[in-house]
Amino acid sequence: IKLSVPRESASGERRVALDPSVAAKFSDMGITVQLEKGAGSEAHFPDAAYEKASVVDTETAYGQSDLMVRVAPPTVEEINQLPEGSTVVSLFHAHRNPDVVKAMQERKILSFAMELIPRISRAQSMDVLSSQAAVVGYKGAIMGSDLSCRFFPMLTTAAGTIRPAKVIVIGAGVAGLQAIATAKRLGAMVEAYDVRSATKEQVESLGAKFLDLGVSAEGEGGYARELTAEEKKQQQDALGEYIAKADVLITTAAIPGRDAPKLIPKIMVEGMKPGAVIIDLAAEGGGNCELSKPGETHDHKGVIIHAPLNVPSQVPLHASEMYAKNLLNFLTPMIAEGGEFQPDWDDEVIAKSVLTRDGEIVHEATREALK
Ligand code: NAD
Repeated sequence: IKLSVPRESASGERRVALDPSVAAKFSDMGITVQLEKGAGSEAHFPDAAYEKASVVDTETAYGQSDLMVRVAPPTVEEINQLPEGSTVVSLFHAHRNPDVVKAMQERKILSFAMELIPRISRAQSMDVLSSQAAVVGYKGAIMGSDLSCRFFPMLTTAAGTIRPAKVIVIGAGVAGLQAIATAKRLGAMVEAYDVRSATKEQVESLGAKFLDLGVSAEGEGGYARELTAEEKKQQQDALGEYIAKADVLITTAAIPGRDAPKLIPKIMVEGMKPGAVIIDLAAEGGGNCELSKPGETHDHKGVIIHAPLNVPSQVPLHASEMYAKNLLNFLTPMIAEGGEFQPDWDDEVIAKSVLTRDGEIVHEATREALK
């Protein structure tokens, strides 16, 4: 089969679905890898580094693709350039891109959404949500130190002793834990909070202090559930006191399938120190801070509020390498001897990540949402 790697078309997207070493692994399986000219350049992988791929123009990359792998969702125009019945593997965020899903249905595209891969132990090596969240957490801590008017570490110098910065991380999932680890490495004093009590041990194992606000909201499948109005109030009353002392606040709280919970109201921001920084890593879902403007940085009465979008794209080389490894682990079981594409539909990881197949929307929640 022919596997195509397009140049990502989404604005600001710097990642590429395959780095040269993973592209070579697919080639070794007997697959013809076609790289659209310049596909890896934004991630600093020049065309020449893809030794085992052929570099092709846009028309060939789309028109002659059996299996296309990509990072950001394709556009309707791009879907219409693909052969009918071919396969696309990508992040799709189907609820935000209903037209793309319909176009794929019409062209009988077999689509696998990387974000639908079940988060079970066996599929951990395929989990792009985790690999990319780790990038978000790391970069979020770096952004916090960059925008802060203070040092992160304690410094003892001839010009006096500097106290370490206090960093608070809200939401200790994959991104939050990486933000904690990174802020610790930079020498900050770190405190963290999550509604899942299981995170206490993880936070403490990174050398940070867990803030116990007396609210626990374990949801299904290891995720958090939405808080009741009463729990929200209790959480906010307790949280405000801690946040007033923070130099940098990093928020990562999310609930699957919902907008990000608004945990930091205006009044809490106004209680923060002059020069304090909020890095709202939940901006993609609308943000955890009431005042966040997704994609923007602004100053509210002396507090800097930064709500970046598509953070993984800001570490494009490593984010691409991790994404490519996840793709390789996902697709390898579907590649038969001689490079043929043969998904085993009895495998739950494969079956559950299908979005469209044979002109049907297979993923139930998407089908219901698009009715
Ligand atoms: P996520 O991005 O959905 O949420 C981030 C964090 O926000 C979570 O820890 C959540 O508990 C927290 N949160 C939600 N509402 C909050 C509130 N009101 N206040 C404070 N915090 C709040 O989660 P994630 O990082 O993708 O993963 C969460 C869990 O899933 C973790 O336990 C992780 O280990 C697990 N997981 C398992 C696998 C696997 O087994 N394959 C893969 C990835 C993640």
